[in-house]
Amino acid sequence: GKRSLNRLERSDWWHTTPVKDIQSVAITIQATTTVNDAVISLFLEDVGTLVVVDENQILAGIVSRKDLLKVTLGNAQAQAMPIQLVMTKRPKIYTVSPDDSVYEAARKLIYYQIDSLPVVKAVNENNPQALKVVGRITKTNIVKSLIEVESDA
Ligand code: ADP
Repeated sequence: GKRSLNRLERSDWWHTTPVKDIQSVAITIQATTTVNDAVISLFLEDVGTLVVVDENQILAGIVSRKDLLKVTLGNAQAQAMPIQLVMTKRPKIYTVSPDDSVYEAARKLIYYQIDSLPVVKAVNENNPQALKVVGRITKTNIVKSLIEVESDA
């Protein structure tokens, strides 16, 4: 089995574990998806945030449960609206790359007061702004991994 981690190695875990080791799959939708279908995806996929991408999986925005609550509350028409009108858009999206440390991801989640970060890769040398979505990291991912490290120790 696994060798036990000593105290120093456990604190090192934060800085040496890359995001890609603990990330989860990003649930993605297109900007043309309706608010109604986005709400259905939240429930079916059991997530709190949806990542909005184009047809090439390039990051376009992010939509959270509060974004959806805000637009639907007292507005029956909102269900047919495209998610484009509701989402937080690039370039205002905070992201991490697969090789960033778990510490860096945790720091951003707390600093920016958000629940999740898309994990992205620049895929086109000529267009460094085009970020391909390869995963998602949440506070839950991080807490779960911490518990695993602690119980392995
Ligand atoms: P909730 O709104 O369900 O509590 P969040 O706290 O994650 O979920 O989202 C708060 C706001 O921040 C929302 O308007 C959402 O669109 C936006 N947001 C969520 N994640 C990010 C991110 N990675 N970068 C920028 N904005 C984000």
